[in-house]
Amino acid sequence: MVRAVVRLGAVLALACLVVAIGAPRGWAFGSVRPVPGPVVRDFDPPSKDWLPGHRGVDLAAPVGSSVRAAASGRVSVAQVIAGRGVVTVVHGDLRTTYEPVRARVRVGDQVSAGDVIGTVEAGHCPSGCLHFGLKRGDEYLDPLGGSAVRLLPESAVAEARKLAAARAAALASGGVAASGSGLLLNPVGGRISSPFGRRFHPIFHEWRLHAGVDLHASCGTPIRAAADGVVRSVSYDSSGGHRLVIAHPGGLTTHYLHALKRYQVRKGQKVKRGQVVGLVGSTGWSTGCHLHFGTKINGRLVDPAQLL
Ligand SMILES: [Zn+2]
Ligand SMILES: [Zn+2]
Repeated sequence: MVRAVVRLGAVLALACLVVAIGAPRGWAFGSVRPVPGPVVRDFDPPSKDWLPGHRGVDLAAPVGSSVRAAASGRVSVAQVIAGRGVVTVVHGDLRTTYEPVRARVRVGDQVSAGDVIGTVEAGHCPSGCLHFGLKRGDEYLDPLGGSAVRLLPESAVAEARKLAAARAAALASGGVAASGSGLLLNPVGGRISSPFGRRFHPIFHEWRLHAGVDLHASCGTPIRAAADGVVRSVSYDSSGGHRLVIAHPGGLTTHYLHALKRYQVRKGQKVKRGQVVGLVGSTGWSTGCHLHFGTKINGRLVDPAQLL
């Protein structure tokens, strides 16, 4: 026991030294803001489907002003629904919605980022606005995510293709085994499909810090506590989906994201290493079922691969 604690301390100290910390950058979906006006009402998704909330962002825009496609795609809806004009553009497995809008496009049209797809109609905000939404399946996502919109440099696109190919190859060959110490239990037992560090984000199409590792696991796989500890928080947000944080001795916290549904533990509850705390899902910003697993020591991010 004493030896294990000493070993944990040494590994944690090493982890602190070798990990480079970078602040996550702002992002947004697509390369174009549909209208230039400021946000007048933020994204505020309800915790349950049937509760009221705001499933998009409202951008100030005078009635009659142009609405542009946020990213290239194909028009799947251009009609009046329940008295308001709606345009939807499909981008792979994501869809952007624009309302109330008098459509200038038809279903099936291909549009490029920045193409005018219609004009703002009255009805959503007292002084005129566009309601801009982003969905994957039935899930509402935050289309702006809180920051400025940028165009992607060509070099980043090329680098992203290389990285995506490397990840695909790694997964095809069974993923990358954690090379670390085994001090923490792998919460789902799966291999690492995406490592810690800077990476090109598959949804935001932008370089971001990947603040943990993605562990390969199918939907519904039990998630186990990586070590003995106390539940610090259980929450939901649009990026992490169902999120759990467990505090452990030595200033270590473990972070579990994207669970299928609410975790099975409560804030303040003691958990044992290996105890099932939830089920693997794909809630929040996620491209498929997996566990995003993060570790921090005294609040600083460290690469979980060194601790698994
Ligand atoms: Zn709105
Ligand atoms: Zn992740």
